[in-house]
Amino acid sequence: MNKPTVGISACLLGHCVRYNGEHKRHDWIVNEFGKQVDFVPICPEIEMGLGVPRKTLRLIIRDSQTRMVLNESGEDLTDLALSSSRRILSKLPRMDGYIFKKDSPSCGLSGVKLYTPDGNCGTGGTGIFSQEFRKSFAGIPVIEESDLNVLEAQAHFRNAVLKAAREHSTT
Ligand code: SF4
Repeated sequence: MNKPTVGISACLLGHCVRYNGEHKRHDWIVNEFGKQVDFVPICPEIEMGLGVPRKTLRLIIRDSQTRMVLNESGEDLTDLALSSSRRILSKLPRMDGYIFKKDSPSCGLSGVKLYTPDGNCGTGGTGIFSQEFRKSFAGIPVIEESDLNVLEAQAHFRNAVLKAAREHSTT
């Protein structure tokens, strides 16, 4: 069986793609898990053409919909984020798992800051890219890097990815 294919927020592999030019390298993912899988690193905000460094983004709720806007100007980039996400997803190979960066308005799986029109902040948001990813790849194992800091969680996620890869190799 080939190694499983696992998508990942590129900053978690040490790529300097964050808004401020930094990364969020995760040692276990890179040093241990990386020996067992082939990663497909993706930075949705780079794919949107926003560059590094770039202005920060946030999620807001407007007309009962989650929108992505620039923090400073409020410019709405949701349509760009959606079209860019769908373009990325249309090119992806078979995926056996995905590791998302927590708290990101693009990559966060849940609990992302979500602002109301009057500026109040809750934490019920899901990143625009991760939301689209889960529609396209329903059922594959996904996790945020912050949930991979303990041995049990690491083993559980690794086993789920290996199981998905075995199933995909027989279909
Ligand atoms: S958009 Fe995602 S991959 Fe890119 S820097 Fe932010 S969290 Fe990392």
